[in-house]
Amino acid sequence: MELITKAPRGTKDILPEEIARWQHVEKMILRVCDLFGFTEIRVPTFEHTELFERGVGETTDVVNKEMYTFLDKGGRSITLRPEGTASVTRAVLESGLYGGALPVKLCYLLPCFRYEKPQAGRLREFHQFGVELFGASEPAADAEVILLASRIFDAFGLSNVKLKLNSIGCPECRKAYKAALTEYFAGRAEELCDSCGERLSKNPMRILDCKSPVCAEIAKGAPSILDYLCEDCAAHFTKVKELLTAAGAAFEVDDRIVRGLDYYSRTVFEFVVDGIGAQSTVCGGGRYDGLAGQLSDRELPGLGFAMGLERLLLTLEAAGYQFPAPAVCDLYLASAPGAENAVVALAEKLRGAGLSVQTDLCGRSIKAQMKYAGKIGARFSAVLGGDELESGKAELKRMEDGEKFTVTLAEESQFVTVIKENCNG
Ligand code: ATP
Ligand code: MG
Repeated sequence: MELITKAPRGTKDILPEEIARWQHVEKMILRVCDLFGFTEIRVPTFEHTELFERGVGETTDVVNKEMYTFLDKGGRSITLRPEGTASVTRAVLESGLYGGALPVKLCYLLPCFRYEKPQAGRLREFHQFGVELFGASEPAADAEVILLASRIFDAFGLSNVKLKLNSIGCPECRKAYKAALTEYFAGRAEELCDSCGERLSKNPMRILDCKSPVCAEIAKGAPSILDYLCEDCAAHFTKVKELLTAAGAAFEVDDRIVRGLDYYSRTVFEFVVDGIGAQSTVCGGGRYDGLAGQLSDRELPGLGFAMGLERLLLTLEAAGYQFPAPAVCDLYLASAPGAENAVVALAEKLRGAGLSVQTDLCGRSIKAQMKYAGKIGARFSAVLGGDELESGKAELKRMEDGEKFTVTLAEESQFVTVIKENCNG
């Protein structure tokens, strides 16, 4: 028989020893969302394939090369979500959330799926934290979304994360810009990689996003979108920069940032880290005022970002971030033969009083139970047997130094007090 003990390539279990880090990161992130008034939304893991084809764009790598698409048993084309924005926008349109108080401010923590070549910081199933804000076209909204992302990095004390900012204008300003880009790249078409050869006719801005060093070098000399912004887009960009400066957020304007997805307009940005290897973009986002109109008959300005949680964790680990210690067992309650009923009853009472309590589930000897208590790092242990049940008292042993504290079995509050007051750490 062939063993089935290996997860598919590009997926990763999050094991018990790592979970405290994930939970900590998620908690910190959601706390920052609260500070800005963003509420969590949960959307389905799969959607109709057309949502991403139309929402993310058919000339993008995500749609062209990376989607997990299949026919379900009803013959419909279904895709595992490669990102959150299209789904969240679809949910806002479907639920009519746009009809309530505007702006709508949403955040999410979601697994995403992309068929990519797995490497450090690049998986086939990965996790995104993101926010989306709908119904506000003012530069203040752009600034707020960027400040939220910045505050997350600040909350972790990360100082090696840099904000890169650009504006890619509106479809109007892009017409002239795309023509200028096409002319520039056409002059060097021979040197571009195969994918960029194709991008040249379909969407020349994509070439600026190509990861091949040759294309990146050629892109350096390309015209800048900032020279092609219409008056409104230029004023919008100026105001975003002004607000960020007023809020004390450092940024660098980088006119090579165009983002990989088709739906962006005006403000785009990335947060980039030093020291986590090639996959250095931890967070990317921007404004996508045209997206709702591409999916429905309703125009609704929107913007947001997505942050890769695996890359955020890599960044925190590289920075030597001190994660809080994982939760440990307060008390291991060992049972002598015959005391099992009393042990299960007491353990339940103590859990009711807020202590984390573990007991024997394997029929072990007292000695083996104590060994297990040591292995799981229990703070205190106690043995319940005939003597304890008769006297109504037990001794709590502090595992780290063996010091003993006597407690009355009938008084749970004594257990709580002794354990809380006498555990070091
Ligand atoms: P990249 O250029 O690294 O492929 P992207 O532009 O495709 O990133 P987005 O679609 O903007 O990425 O997704 C937002 C964030 O999600 C990225 O900045 C990154 O942190 C994370 N991310 C994207 N793809 C992956 C992946 N395959 N594995 C892990 N994290 C990812
Ligand atoms: Mg990508």
